Amino acid sequence: MKSQEIRAKFLEFFKEKSHKIVPSAPMVIKDDPTLMFTNAGMNQFKEFFLGNSVPKYNRVADTQKCLRVSGKHNDLEEVGKDTYHHTMFEMLGNWSFGDYFKAEAIAWAWEFLTEVCKIEKDSLYVTVFEGSKDADQLGQDTEALELWSKIVAKDRILFGNKKDNFWEMGDQGPCGPCSEIHVDIRSAQEKAKVSGAALVNQDHPQVVEIWNLVFMQYNRKANGQLEALPSKHVDTGMGFERLCMVMQGVQSNYDTDVFTPIIREIETITNTKYGKDEDINIAIRVIADHIRAVSFSIADGQLPSNTGAGYVIRRILRRAIRYGFTFLNTKEPFMFLLVKVLSETMGKSFPELKDQRQLIENVVKEEEHSFLKTIGFGITELQKQIDLIKLSKKDINASKQESDEAKITGGMAFYLYDTCGFPLDLTELIAEENGLAVNIEGFNKLMQQQKDRSRSASEVSKEDWIVLAEDPHQEFVGYDNLETSVKIVKYRKVTSKKEGEQYQIVFNLTPFYPEGGGQVGDKGYLEAPNGDVVYILDTKKENNEIVHFAKNLPRDTGGKFKAVVDAKQRRRTECNHTATHLLHQALREILGTHVEQKGSAVHSKYLRFDFSHFAKLTTDELVAIESFVNARISNALPLEEQRNVPMEKALEQGAMALFGEKYGDAVRTIRFGQSIELCGGTHVRNTADIWHFRIRSEGAVAAGIRRIEAITSDAVKDFYSESNNTLMEIKELLNNSQEPVKALAALQEENLRLKKELENLLKEKAKNLKGELLNELVEVNGIQFLAKKVDLDAAGIKDISFEMGQNRKDLFLLFASEIEGKALLSCYISKELVEERKLNAGTIVRELGKYIQGGGGGQPFFATAGGKNPAGIAEVLEKAKAYVV
Ligand code: ATP
Ligand code: MG
Repeated sequence: MKSQEIRAKFLEFFKEKSHKIVPSAPMVIKDDPTLMFTNAGMNQFKEFFLGNSVPKYNRVADTQKCLRVSGKHNDLEEVGKDTYHHTMFEMLGNWSFGDYFKAEAIAWAWEFLTEVCKIEKDSLYVTVFEGSKDADQLGQDTEALELWSKIVAKDRILFGNKKDNFWEMGDQGPCGPCSEIHVDIRSAQEKAKVSGAALVNQDHPQVVEIWNLVFMQYNRKANGQLEALPSKHVDTGMGFERLCMVMQGVQSNYDTDVFTPIIREIETITNTKYGKDEDINIAIRVIADHIRAVSFSIADGQLPSNTGAGYVIRRILRRAIRYGFTFLNTKEPFMFLLVKVLSETMGKSFPELKDQRQLIENVVKEEEHSFLKTIGFGITELQKQIDLIKLSKKDINASKQESDEAKITGGMAFYLYDTCGFPLDLTELIAEENGLAVNIEGFNKLMQQQKDRSRSASEVSKEDWIVLAEDPHQEFVGYDNLETSVKIVKYRKVTSKKEGEQYQIVFNLTPFYPEGGGQVGDKGYLEAPNGDVVYILDTKKENNEIVHFAKNLPRDTGGKFKAVVDAKQRRRTECNHTATHLLHQALREILGTHVEQKGSAVHSKYLRFDFSHFAKLTTDELVAIESFVNARISNALPLEEQRNVPMEKALEQGAMALFGEKYGDAVRTIRFGQSIELCGGTHVRNTADIWHFRIRSEGAVAAGIRRIEAITSDAVKDFYSESNNTLMEIKELLNNSQEPVKALAALQEENLRLKKELENLLKEKAKNLKGELLNELVEVNGIQFLAKKVDLDAAGIKDISFEMGQNRKDLFLLFASEIEGKALLSCYISKELVEERKLNAGTIVRELGKYIQGGGGGQPFFATAGGKNPAGIAEVLEKAKAYVV
């Protein structure tokens, strides 16, 4: 059976069991502070398990794109080395929200595997939670055991501990026991030798878990205690690629038709063969896996970058590039060529891959290009250190000393890791080729320090919610009101290094817009009847609840409060949001319909819009875009808003939907003239409110992605008045010239002329000085020697030393100078003398440095030192001769 059919069979099976088939949520999560990427099918249903919202269907099934590369589930380092873990994979799942429980979940899973997929019963094992003797004191999951016993032979039911058979969403929240289903795909011969039961959960590549059935029946509180959930849920997840492996009778996920087309393409491009050499096999698996992860995230709108989710993606891509570089000898970009096959094989189920193929290719290619350059740069840096070590090793060997310096420093290894993306083993490999080792201890220490730093920066501790009112109706009323009377439903204290102590507060009604769709969260205040005021610093959505952030709580949390949004900030933000829509329309109109929104940030002070486009915008285009938007502002277009429109109807009307966004069945549309978008944000009533739109900058964020930053309303007014003030100041500086531009141009011209003159004078002076200094050289022991105080800065000394050294093999210069109360030394020695006489400028300046109370260093033929005691210069000059006599 082809993978396409297997996926369809699963969905069909659960559809027949009255499940609603829903689309996969985006893999990149944009508005959950606790999670960057979807790592399990249940993520998109979290709010239902937490009881924050009521699901429309209580049975659903889907295939979910997952990524396990960070946080609780991180399989990155295993991927490629084994044959059944991926970074990005599909998780097939079925859910019950307070509907069916263990009996149905178990029976259906078994029916699907053994009857639909026809997997041999005696190659399957199931596990049951054995209970725990820790603080939770949980008993064995006898319910599941009984149910399994009815359909599975006794010796195929195994017991598992908390690690494998108790599933928790996080430190807090819904959890419960689970039953896993494992499959043994070894040959009959091997099965006869060792029983599969002994290999379950032992990381054996042919005895693997394929399905996990989680029975959510508890809630874990902040103090660690468990309480029973009011209604019980089922959450299952099955690895699609693993199921394909079993059904297609192969021994590795990479031998299924999910991967073989990509692997064949890698073989062709890199001229290698999969299956011959283990290093090459791993590299090919890594590349085949990672191109999927990276392509799917780019399609979801997450580009590689230097922070957050973007950095994770960049690291995945770099891992693959590096494997190619080391084991497949790929020195040019090649991974972008794989996007074609990928979009051909998976584009049917995931159309975003097809539609965005060009963009994905561009971005991947550019990343490859720049990382290969970084690798080249890192190798050069490393080589420099290797050369130095080899040079000093000669000294060491000569004096028969053993030394630690014969290792690549931990600092260098860490620099290569952190800045150039070299894993330690690559650095070790290159060092080894040069007969050197790496200071691993030093590397590990720096690594640990970095980990500690980032951990303590991101640690957040949350107390339990204090619930004041049970399950009242919660609603956002901020489209129509900026002020409402509200009740506090619940609150909790959270503590983090970044924000300190804060309270999160949930109201029944709220006029505060929660951050989302690019728009920032509202600020404002809460006023109690007794006059107490609590400032709301930010508003965010968490698990479908609107959470308000405050530094403190009102003294009395009961009763009614007046909730007031900061109207000025909201109004400015609205101007920017509406302008963003108009800008989007302008770009598609002026540049073409290939333009797609790739991210936006709507603040009160400015707006930022990222979009796909392959060239820098010309001045004419920018002017046209500005005029387009400003024309629509002048036309005073009224807001036409529709709430709760069926998705299909909105699309029919021409509303723009974005890839990587999760939309419900009913959506909100925002129209201004011909601009119509699906949008949950807040907008002006009329475009005239925006007053004026002005582009502040245009640039590239990544290959094929441009960014425009712009301002509107008050910010434009401020901008013009500031510009005007600057102009006044300039005029004043130019003696109130009525033609400041002409006056400035004249000044610039004069400046240029003077600069040239000065340069010539300096050159002349240097030439004279060089002549003078050469005249002062004295011969000592066959060495042309000079130690002298000169009136030059560090660069000047360096230049003149190297000039004097040209065509000379016997020069020893020691220059000192005094600049702004500090002393400077430099020592230049002809390379030939360094070799023949075993002189080392680095050592010399270090030793002489003590007379000027300072230190320094450099290379054997040129080194410098600085110090705070210029009075010591005379002594330095006196001692210098000792090195050549
Ligand atoms: P494993 O122990 O094999 O890592 P898991 O316990 O992490 O699996 P779950 O979190 O229960 O797995 O996920 C449900 C199912 O998803 C698993 O039974 C497996 O089939 C699949 N799965 C989990 N991780 C991966 C991965 N990295 N690549 C492919 N499939 C996976
Ligand atoms: Mg795992």
